[in-house]
Amino acid sequence: MYNILNFNIEELENWMKVNDESKFRASQIMDWIYKKNQYDFNYMTNISKNVIEKLKKNFYIGIPELIEKQKSKSQDTFKFLYKFQDKNIIETVVMKYRHGNSICVSTQVGCRMGCKFCASTVNGMVRNLTSGEILAQILKSQTEINERISNIVLMGSGEPLDNYDNVLKFLNMVNSKYSLNIGQRHITLSTCGIVPKIMDLANENLQITLAISLHSPDNFSRRDMMPIANKYSIEEIIYACKYYINKTGRRVSFEYALVKGVNDSLEFAERLVQLLKGLLCHVNLIPVNEVKENDFKKSSEDNIKKFYNKLIENKIETTIRREMGSDIDAACGQLRRRYLESKSYRKGVENGGALVRRG
Ligand code: SAH
Repeated sequence: MYNILNFNIEELENWMKVNDESKFRASQIMDWIYKKNQYDFNYMTNISKNVIEKLKKNFYIGIPELIEKQKSKSQDTFKFLYKFQDKNIIETVVMKYRHGNSICVSTQVGCRMGCKFCASTVNGMVRNLTSGEILAQILKSQTEINERISNIVLMGSGEPLDNYDNVLKFLNMVNSKYSLNIGQRHITLSTCGIVPKIMDLANENLQITLAISLHSPDNFSRRDMMPIANKYSIEEIIYACKYYINKTGRRVSFEYALVKGVNDSLEFAERLVQLLKGLLCHVNLIPVNEVKENDFKKSSEDNIKKFYNKLIENKIETTIRREMGSDIDAACGQLRRRYLESKSYRKGVENGGALVRRG
């Protein structure tokens, strides 16, 4: 059985051809799934019974099961825990803004990048998500909030550039008029900085926004927070960003999680200015989400403001990320971790459920 969400239009047309069906069935089926939100072959009324039977024999529509839903007090952030067919659990966040709904999708079950401040990576990576499984998070979430989603950030659990082929296929599908038809400029991909893959991405001729989890202008302190920094230096990352900007004409985003006493001094702000001066970029300051998996502490409001002012005075475009939904385990990977630690999940594992690599 195949997950039909992993098939793009060409592949589905080809499947029809090989199976002696007309090619136009492919776009009809995609229309049902992506435009009419119909996730049951039986209700695809313009498709004949025997084609439906054939489809049911070969495909399933891989919409995950909703395990838990949380809503922030402010009513604008939703966090969903989804379970895939193989019982693996992932989390997805939806944020409602005045300009539209934005989704934060996971690209892997867990993560193997090992960033010290992040809860997603604590148990390592279990497996990559397929393009259809990334797409399914949008389909299912649209059904849950009963509204269309117009912006996508690849900032959930996982490192998108460590799952390059599936993520690329997802980007192409989500953008396709046969699928969700979401413009590339409404998509942001965030990476911890896998330099050769950033170069590859630049060569794909996409118009998506690249976001870099920088978190420090200094290689030594970055290495303390992010193991990937041992492999690629900040200088190499900046070189790759320049290449991306030249190739795409797009402004690059830098994420900077402010951690008390680690990377929030004015000296670091000054070094960040020196690093980014003249680059077509934007800095997103994030008060670090305190998670129980580590003891990184959030910078004081006063420090955040001073850091921000330093960048602004030096004409570096900067925003401070609004903390949405911090009352609902919205910090990266927390909801999933809490669930994995809970009794109900352990029982599932003992009964032959998903295998989660420990430690
Ligand atoms: N692997 C990708 C995308 C997932 S993480 C990446 O590294 O960019 C999404 C963003 O959340 C990254 O910028 C990451 O550094 C940040 N993040 C992770 N844990 C966090 C925490 N506890 N507080 C604030 N930001 C965090």
